[in-house]
Amino acid sequence: MMNTALAFNDEYWQAFVAADADYDGLFWVGVETTGIFCRPSCRARKPLKQNCQVFDASEQALEAGFRPCKRCKPELLAHEHPRWVQRVLNALHEHPEHRLKDEDVAALHVSPVRLRRYFHRRYQCTFQQWQRQQRVSITSQKMREGARLSEAVTGFQSEGGYRAALKKLIDAPNQHSSTVMAIQHLSTPLGDMLAGVIDGQLVLLEFVVKQRHLRQLKIARRLFQASLIEQRSALHETLQQQLNEYFAGTRKNFSIPLQTPGTEFQQKVWQQLQAIPYGETRAYQALAENVGVAGASRAVGTANGANRIAILVPCHRVINKSGNLGGYGGGLRRKSQLLALEREGHVK
Ligand SMILES: [Zn+2]
Repeated sequence: MMNTALAFNDEYWQAFVAADADYDGLFWVGVETTGIFCRPSCRARKPLKQNCQVFDASEQALEAGFRPCKRCKPELLAHEHPRWVQRVLNALHEHPEHRLKDEDVAALHVSPVRLRRYFHRRYQCTFQQWQRQQRVSITSQKMREGARLSEAVTGFQSEGGYRAALKKLIDAPNQHSSTVMAIQHLSTPLGDMLAGVIDGQLVLLEFVVKQRHLRQLKIARRLFQASLIEQRSALHETLQQQLNEYFAGTRKNFSIPLQTPGTEFQQKVWQQLQAIPYGETRAYQALAENVGVAGASRAVGTANGANRIAILVPCHRVINKSGNLGGYGGGLRRKSQLLALEREGHVK
């Protein structure tokens, strides 16, 4: 097992002993004698320093074999932040057009240095860069007015129920397998997508439509016998970049390795989907003929709906013979927006 533990420096040790919540999200402590890891603010009795390992991500503590403490629940989800960071984000949320400077952050009783460290660790960018990205995504959010709020789960304003359900999935590791699926929310002008990566291959990409995509996530988790962790892999970065280009109308094909296990019939249908060129559509009936079972358009529709990788396996390009849209797991509005994007080169 790889040891990614860091040395316990004095500042962190003092914060840990004082259970200082202002350090939550900056480091995690694994206790060798109990096999459990905690966030700094944990109220449980503090262990001896010599028995501690320090990690700068909760996934690293998990990978090193530590279990999350039941008391302080040290794992943070994609859109969860420690309370002190949340204070800053709330201020930003109230005035999204403002750029928060160091003195504004300090006025909220948050150390600008600590905040910088947090954003660097978590997003590999400065707080200022992050604010800029936020403003961009707020703008694109305004652009997609009409999207129902319950569908547009964005950033730190996510819905409690969705978050709780997702956390439950993450908290139930797969005991019988060491396969890990790294999941991460990616943002698009049509709303957040959840992306799952195993061994450098994309296994899941779904719009956040609460019920539907949690079910897909469960299916994928069972199919791959995987435990879930919240982690941004290199492939997530590449995918986010390519999605940005796709939504800007400058990318027509993706170069992302996929893993799409399924029945022989599903495989055939998904291959056919990938053969439909950008900007074109096919009828379910035509697809059935291509797969070699004319008349099986309903079965084709079902296999189409079982596709776990939205956009890259373009099930949105399949429509009814009559020309109406048929169904779409991500919602019909998104289906028509994707088709319009491919037709006109920009998101409406
Ligand atoms: Zn704890």
